[in-house]
Order: sequence, then structure tokens, then C-alpha cells
Amino acid sequence: MAREKIRNPKQTERGDALLNRRSFLKGMVGSSVIAAAGSLAISSVAGAAANARDNTGRWSEILDIVVVGSGFAGLAAATEAAERGMKVVVLEKMPRYGGNSAICHGEFAASDDPYHLRDKLELGDDGPARHAEDMLRAGNYYGKPDLVRVVAEQAPAALTWLLEGAGVKIQESVLAAPGHSSPRIYSGIGGSGEVLVEALKKRAEQSGVVIRTNEQVTAIWRNSFSAPVVGVEVQRGKRRSNIYIRQALILASGGFSRDLAMRQVYNPAVGSSYQSTNHPGATGELIQSARVVGADVTQMNFVQVYPFADPVTGRFDVPSVFALRGPAVGMIFVDEKGKRFVNEAADGETCARAQIRAGGKKRVTFALFNEAMISAMGTNDEIVSGMKAGRFARGETLADLARFLEIPPENLEKTVSDHNRYIREGVDPVWGKKSMNRMIPLESGPFFALSQWPAVHGTLGGLRINTRAQVLDIRSNPIPRLYAAGEVTGGIHGANRLPGNSIPECIVFGRIAGANAAAEKFPA
Ligand SMILES: Cc1cc2nc3c(=O)[nH]c(=O)nc-3n(C[C@H](O)[C@H](O)[C@H](O)COP(=O)(O)OP(=O)(O)OC[C@H]3O[C@@H](n4cnc5c(N)ncnc54)[C@H](O)[C@@H]3O)c2cc1C
Repeated sequence: MAREKIRNPKQTERGDALLNRRSFLKGMVGSSVIAAAGSLAISSVAGAAANARDNTGRWSEILDIVVVGSGFAGLAAATEAAERGMKVVVLEKMPRYGGNSAICHGEFAASDDPYHLRDKLELGDDGPARHAEDMLRAGNYYGKPDLVRVVAEQAPAALTWLLEGAGVKIQESVLAAPGHSSPRIYSGIGGSGEVLVEALKKRAEQSGVVIRTNEQVTAIWRNSFSAPVVGVEVQRGKRRSNIYIRQALILASGGFSRDLAMRQVYNPAVGSSYQSTNHPGATGELIQSARVVGADVTQMNFVQVYPFADPVTGRFDVPSVFALRGPAVGMIFVDEKGKRFVNEAADGETCARAQIRAGGKKRVTFALFNEAMISAMGTNDEIVSGMKAGRFARGETLADLARFLEIPPENLEKTVSDHNRYIREGVDPVWGKKSMNRMIPLESGPFFALSQWPAVHGTLGGLRINTRAQVLDIRSNPIPRLYAAGEVTGGIHGANRLPGNSIPECIVFGRIAGANAAAEKFPA
């Protein structure tokens, strides 16, 4: 028996974790969607109701700068403002701070870093102009060039800010990722999103920022469409109260991937059959509240689907990251017939569409790699824990693995031997994959498979901002004293967000929002 048994107590004699999970799929999809839809419907309705109410004019508190949301964008904004001497309070609706930022993988895209690792590793030239062009191209040129340029130009400084200012550590490697024309991914910066959030939170609190959890902003107050924002309504438990804001309001409340109702308004194609990789608070109600006081939105239909999530839970877990890094070193994606169905190095959107076409009734596709590739994608420990969780399967031979995955072995062997030949010849005549000469052929075992299926990963549309992070109204005028940063905003990534571009976006625009909010003149 060449196949290694997966040590999961719930597994059958066949060690068939993937198959168990697949048969489990149907029920899981149903229940998670119901849960998400239920909470989302409530949040959307609550937002609308709050905005329909008039301000009572009774203020229970007066604050200088209020930041809504405690992810990367909110913490960066709050820190920047506090370090300029402002009194800043961060309001977070969830019991725990961090939002999506705390569950992300810490991949950070930048064309340089303070140690100039790319020179040290002889990775060739890169620069902000090239980074910006990649962002625009990947987003089908829907990204707003002025905003894109700001992110690409300031990403190296944002990385330095994290490393030197917040004491975050990076690995001494700069990786390639699909859609980026040059290796520029600083992988697992800080180790994970959680570590990164902790470091930022510590720095924010050392600067005097106060973070209050379980406080949901349910309305934004502004007295007329030419007046500044003056406050917010906040709900804590059943109690609602109003906060008067003297200096500025910064919205950093993230996207709406988990708001099925809202997603359906803007993009009916990404319906209830999709799970989401996001945290439950990604419900987007503040985008609606901002619209009520005159804010414009942009590109709300661009909902990003991540191709490599766990087919059962929709989670973007550690094994999912292997599929992000694998194509550069020779990983291939196959369907249930053992056939490749896409250029594995294509951007996530293209891969996800191809998966949905190829996935069949089982709604699963597989990423294939061998032992020789592991160190370029992750660690052996991650393989071991991924196998325990039933996410990776292992076979000494391709035929073993194929039988395990219920793929006809001869199909898989042919697909792999063709791909090995393409690597030797340096050309992929079927899918046109580039840089074949950098890849490792799937010649020697053991071989591994990862199950993967698309899930909603991010919303790329949101509040329209300018390069100063001011929220714009429908006439393109900045709404006085209202700023926004991070996934709550739209127009930066266009139709598709490349891996590692979100953290720089959040830090860059968070810092800009914080600095400009701090520079607002105090009203008399
Ligand atoms: C699993 C996963 C992995 C990822 N990995 C990467 C990666 O490696 N690299 C990368 O660049 N990007 C990655 N991303 C994307 C990235 O993590 C997010 O785009 C980014 O963290 C968004 O940050 P944010 O500050 O805008 O929002 P968030 O971090 O989501 O924070 C927003 C916060 O606002 C709160 N909030 C919302 N509404 C209200 C309200 N009304 N009142 C009070 N609080 C409110 C939310 O509860 C939340 O805590 C990943 C995403 C996921 C889901």
C-alpha cells in the first residue's frame, strides 16, 4: 500500500478524507449559507432603519477622531492620527478586534523593502511603475490609476513602517505570485495576519489609541449635503447613543463578502451557493450609512472569488496558500477526470471561473505537487497538519493518488507526463503558461493533492475616495471630515485584486486617512 494513511480519527479505513468531505459538502454549503444570509439580512435592515431615523441631537459623548473598524486600515489610520497628537477612539462591532486582517496570511506585495532583499536574492528589477501596471492589468484597467499609483509607490514605505515601526518580522525571501510580473511577495509578514494585527494594536495603544469592541456604528450624522460629518450613532448591546465628532470620522469597516443580500444587489452571479473566506462581520452596512449622507460608491459589482478555498468550509486556510505559491514552481490543477483546465499561473478570477466550468457535480478540483516543491510553498509541518485535517492527500505514485481521488489513473499519468515534457521544452502549448524553465517536473514522488473550490474572498467596490482618502459625494466633492480606507473603499483593484495587494492598500490609505484627519482644523 503506497498511499500514506491520513491520521484523522473520523476517517474510514480507506483514509479517504477528501471523499468524506466531498460527500459532506452539500449539507455544509446549505447550513453556512443560511447562517450567513440570516445575519446579513439583519445587518442590512438594521443599517437602513438607522439611517431612516433623524438624529435626536442628544450627544452622550464628544470625541476628536473616531475610526470605525479595527483591521489593518483602521489601526494604521488610528496610529497615524494619534502619533500626531490626536485623541483617537476605534469602534469595533465584533467582540474581538482585527476583522479580516486578523485571519489573513500576511502576504505583502511591494517592489522593495528596507533591506533590499530582492537585490540580495538577485531577483532582477522591479519598481512601483511595474507594480502599478500589474495592478491595473489584473483589474482589467478598471482600477483608478491615481489611487493605484499611490498604493504601488507607497507600498515599500508601508512595509518599512510595519517592520521598523511596529517591530514586525519578515522571512528572507521574496516570492512570485500569479498575476505579478515579478517576484514581490513578502510572505507571511509577521508570521500571520493575527501577529501583524497584534503588533499594530500594540503600537496604536502605545500612541494613546483606545479600542472599544462590541460597539457597532449604526448611522452617520451630517446636517445637510454641504455640511461636515458631525457624529455617529453607536449601538452597544440594546443601547443606542450618539457620539459628537469634533475633528474627523474615518471609515475602515471592511467589505461586504458575508452580506449575501448586499452582494446580490450588486452582483447576482455570486449567489448563495458560494461560501466565503471572510470573518462574519464583513457585512458592509456602513457603506449604506455613508450613502445615506451623500457618499458615492464605485465598482460595487466586483466581488472577488478566491479559487483555492477549502471546498467544505470555504476557509482560506494554510493549505490554500500552497495553491497560491505552487504554480510558480510547477504545481498543476486538474479536474475530476485528471485533466488540466486552466493556465495555473493565471489570476484568481480566471482560475475560479475555469474551476466552476470544470468542477462538475462534485464541485471540487485538485492541485497536484510533489515533495520536491514543498519548501517553495510552505513547510513539512504544514503538510502534516494539512493531512490531519484532510486537506492534503498523499500517494507514493501518481496512480495511487489518482485512485484515492477517484480520477482515472491513466488520465492523470498522461496529464503529468505531458506537463513534464512542456517543462523540459520550456513551452506550454495547451494553456500558454510562461516561465516553464523555472518549474520542477512532477517526476518523482511522493505526490500530493490539495482539494480546492472557489469562495467569496473580497469585495473590491465600495466608497469612492480621492488620493487624500477623503470620501467623495456624487459630484466628486469631498465630504468634509469624512475619510475612508481599506476594503470599505472601491476603485483600487478594479475587477480583480492581486495576491498581497490588500495589506499595502490598507496600510497606505489608512496612514493617509489618519494623517489628513489629524490635519483637519479644529472647529471653533
Ligand atoms: C482568509 C483571508 C486571507 C487573506 N490573506 C491576505 C494576504 O495574505 N495578503 C493580503 O494583502 N490580503 C489578504 N487578504 C485580504 C485582507 O486581509 C483584507 O482585505 C484586509 O484585511 C481588509 O482590512 P480592513 O482593515 O479594510 O478590514 P477588516 O480587517 O475586515 O476590518 C474591518 C473591521 O470593521 C468592523 N466593522 C464593520 N462594520 C462595522 C460597524 N458598523 N461598526 C463597527 N465596526 C464595524 C469589522 O467587524 C472588522 O473588524 C485575506 C483575506 C482573507 C479573508
